[in-house]
Amino acid sequence: MVLKSVFPVYSALLLLPGLVLAQAQSDPLWQKALEIHRRAIVVDTHSDLTSRLVDEGVDIGGRLPDGHQDLPRMQEGGLDVQFFSVYVAARYAKKGGPKRAMEMMDAVYRMVETFPDRIQLATSVSDIYRIVSQGKIAALMGLEGGHALENSMHILRMFHRMGIRYVTLTHSNTNDWCDSSTDQPRWGGLNDLGEKIVAEMNRIGMMIDVSHISDEAFWDVMRVSKAPVIASHSSCRAIANMQRNMSDDMIKALAKNGGVIMINFGSSFLNREWGKRTNYILQQIRDKYRGDFGMWGKMWDEMNQKDPLPPATLKDLIDHIDHVVRLVGPDYVGLGSDFDGVSALPVGMEDVSKLPAITYELLKRGYKEEDIRKILGGNLLRVMSEVERVAAELGQ
Ligand SMILES: [Zn+2]
Repeated sequence: MVLKSVFPVYSALLLLPGLVLAQAQSDPLWQKALEIHRRAIVVDTHSDLTSRLVDEGVDIGGRLPDGHQDLPRMQEGGLDVQFFSVYVAARYAKKGGPKRAMEMMDAVYRMVETFPDRIQLATSVSDIYRIVSQGKIAALMGLEGGHALENSMHILRMFHRMGIRYVTLTHSNTNDWCDSSTDQPRWGGLNDLGEKIVAEMNRIGMMIDVSHISDEAFWDVMRVSKAPVIASHSSCRAIANMQRNMSDDMIKALAKNGGVIMINFGSSFLNREWGKRTNYILQQIRDKYRGDFGMWGKMWDEMNQKDPLPPATLKDLIDHIDHVVRLVGPDYVGLGSDFDGVSALPVGMEDVSKLPAITYELLKRGYKEEDIRKILGGNLLRVMSEVERVAAELGQ
């Protein structure tokens, strides 16, 4: 979940993807892309379908008329591994965080209980390999919003036992132990409790997610964490200079630590103009409206009426992947779509069924199969294995 989005839909452009896809499918390279895509383990580290399951009670067994994900479209897109966001909004920071998180987790459990032949819960890399080899989707969970821990190591450990495998240290709000990139800083990064929480996450094998946290908090995590970390849904500031994205220096440090940046597909994360506008609105909300994200829709609509922006494109998305590869090599980038958390997806990547287009575009840019497989999921699996290994080493 980025910001509950109210981005406009560009109906005229909806005709375009069909044309682009038809062109691609007549290219022999498209067949090769599909084969590579099928052989790869395709991982996405951030989906907000969970919010739809809880709030709308959607039935994902059939094709939904709206949104970005359901089981038929996931299968069509060759998606093998999905981390479902257990998203706890900032408004639960004072009360009800763990309750909301458990409702979200229950929705994921209910989903896998309802469709056991198609999707199963995974909590380890070995689970993922087993489930995917049976032709099923592996479902994992990541907690989004560290305030839902209510500063309790007990809750952190219980969430891990219930299946949560990453924690996004903050959401849009600074909490009692970590600063957010979209709120007033209170700690200059992580405070002492934050460092202890990171250490406990290392010990129990919980991946640390640096998406949403402030730059200072990111550097503190780099200093403290004994295991590689992930950015589950962030893109590159060098292309779209938006504060939720990562600078080149941050990406270099993340790579040095052995971690991975999972590229967010939202137009605000991918496109320079969208990023600029998003940054401006985020700053206004922080400085003028005291963090009231209710202002988001109003401000966006007003600016968009005056000056509409066309959505990002598939090319923009591939440019971000390419940027990370040029900067640090092919081992530190992956996919963190934010499906059903953003509404303005790129033209050519309108929902999860379009994922093979990424493989096709990477092939067109001369990427080797080996590197494409890393980007599609291998890199994330490497980080998760490493986090498991560090936890085993740190012991009780
Ligand atoms: Zn988010």
